Amino acid sequence: MTAPHTVTTPDLAGRTALVTGAASGIGRACALRLAAAGAKVRAVDRDAEGLAALAAHADRSPGLPGAVEPHLLDLMDLDAAEAVAAGTDILVNNAGLQRVRPIEQFPPEEFHTVLTVMLEAPFRLIRGALPHMYSQEWGRIVNISSVHGLRASPYKSAYVAAKHGLEGLSKTAALEGAPHGVTSNCVNPGYVRTPLVEAQIADQAATHGIPPERVLSDVLLKDSALKRLVEPEEVAEAVAYLCTPQASFITGTSLVLDGGWTAH
Ligand code: NAD
Repeated sequence: MTAPHTVTTPDLAGRTALVTGAASGIGRACALRLAAAGAKVRAVDRDAEGLAALAAHADRSPGLPGAVEPHLLDLMDLDAAEAVAAGTDILVNNAGLQRVRPIEQFPPEEFHTVLTVMLEAPFRLIRGALPHMYSQEWGRIVNISSVHGLRASPYKSAYVAAKHGLEGLSKTAALEGAPHGVTSNCVNPGYVRTPLVEAQIADQAATHGIPPERVLSDVLLKDSALKRLVEPEEVAEAVAYLCTPQASFITGTSLVLDGGWTAH
């Protein structure tokens, strides 16, 4: 443990971190942040182009050449997801997707996809990662949840169900992992400036029957006290914090970055 009042960054030299959904947005920022802390990052995504761009970016960045290893994988392949997690010290369950439809019009196969990628794959990744974490008595599981892990919004049944499920999975992993030096937590952002949000604006405009330029103020930031989007780097900083020695007593909880949304 370092002295109080010391500003810390985790020293992750010698650690292997796996980040899912690393080709874009929050996952990309997490991959680069954990690599900057010294970790070897296994960057998992189904987007080959995005992964290649991430690895190229790391290779051009001082101190990061070779730190990010792209791993092309569709997380709908649950056996492969479990296998790729073997041997990781830090697991960031981040990959996700959004569908905005009223329940009675929500395509059942899309509900299944969202639940598989955002809840069942994290279960399988944790399952694959735990034996190594337990054997060395150290591991960090960080699940990128959302305000929607704590609150519902209309038209997001699959997403809200998956994130609420992820909260339960994370807490259970915390209880089981505690005797083995493994912590498990959620990080819960409000709206983050990423392609996932940009893609949602047209969808939300159509569903709510309002022009796209009003979606940010009238829908997305309606309940946020701070009227701005969160940056992916701010979310990555919270993930890195949960890997510091100072955060080792934090487990089974949710670190909320929501601009005051859940203060209502
Ligand atoms: P993003 O769309 O920028 O990135 C998501 C990544 O996940 C993409 O690279 C995509 O290819 C990958 N992915 C999706 N399905 C996959 C699959 N089947 N197999 C492998 N990879 C797959 O999104 P983001 O905004 O960075 O979101 C990342 C996480 O943060 C998600 O879990 C999301 O729910 C959560 N989150 C986002 C926001 C936000 O406002 N953007 C807010 C709260 C929580």
